[in-house]
Amino acid sequence: MSAPAESKVYLGLCQQIAEAKTAFKTRHRDQIDIPEDETRKRAGEGNPLLDLRRLKTESKLLREFFDDLISVLKANEFFSREEVSKLIAGKEKIDPVELIKPVIDGDLTGFKAYSDRLGVETDLVSFVGLNLSQAVAELYAEKVKNKVDQESWVKGNCPVCGSHPAIERLMRDDGKRMLRCSLCGTEWYFKRIMCPFCSNEDHNSLRFFVVEEEPPTEKSAFRVDVCDKCKIYIKTLDERKLPESAKPDLYLENLSTIYLDVLAQKDGFESPTYWMVAPSESLFV
Ligand SMILES: [Zn+2]
Ligand SMILES: [Zn+2]
Repeated sequence: MSAPAESKVYLGLCQQIAEAKTAFKTRHRDQIDIPEDETRKRAGEGNPLLDLRRLKTESKLLREFFDDLISVLKANEFFSREEVSKLIAGKEKIDPVELIKPVIDGDLTGFKAYSDRLGVETDLVSFVGLNLSQAVAELYAEKVKNKVDQESWVKGNCPVCGSHPAIERLMRDDGKRMLRCSLCGTEWYFKRIMCPFCSNEDHNSLRFFVVEEEPPTEKSAFRVDVCDKCKIYIKTLDERKLPESAKPDLYLENLSTIYLDVLAQKDGFESPTYWMVAPSESLFV
């Protein structure tokens, strides 16, 4: 497939997975119970509300969503039929709990080990591990996100699960800045002039670039914020530049703007969450 055709198939896959996640959360949202005193204690200690290690206890839920994922992967041609078949053949050997460990423990080299063991390409293994982690993290987050104290949480990592932000937006009404979590999807307010990754507040080393479009298109509403101190970037959607009727979904917007990641990386900036949006190096490059 050519790069644009491949990216279209990829977006279609992610859209179908987003729908599967929504259905999965709807089926299970009433079964999740997170003790109130636990979240209160964690908040009191300045920690994110959820202890992500909890996700490792959800073997049954993970297995169920693993099956949902396989159905979607089989119906979509982004990952080759051959690789998906190998994943299905290895299914009995895989404990889905093992597949989320690299994400929860923050050690992505774990994916390579599973890939070697199953003889399945690492891109597919990490894609499945990521989506399993996100589905259950989102399910948990829905239970506690209304308990986030937006006034007191001033950190650049997620107040619910502690993960890095994946993308951000400047809100249509008041231009306030909101970061969106790469794992559980929670959004939280953040200072306009501060790097979420190193807390740099020096405006001389915080800047952004835009891609000029003439005439302006929806792409013109995006910019890339970069920090010259830590060399990390984040993509920003300025909602004030969108038509009044637009209802952007930041999860999908992040996946459809990989061209901006490529530009930022060419300029020498990095993102700790880039692997989560681009499983294949060939996309848009
Ligand atoms: Zn989160
Ligand atoms: Zn920084």
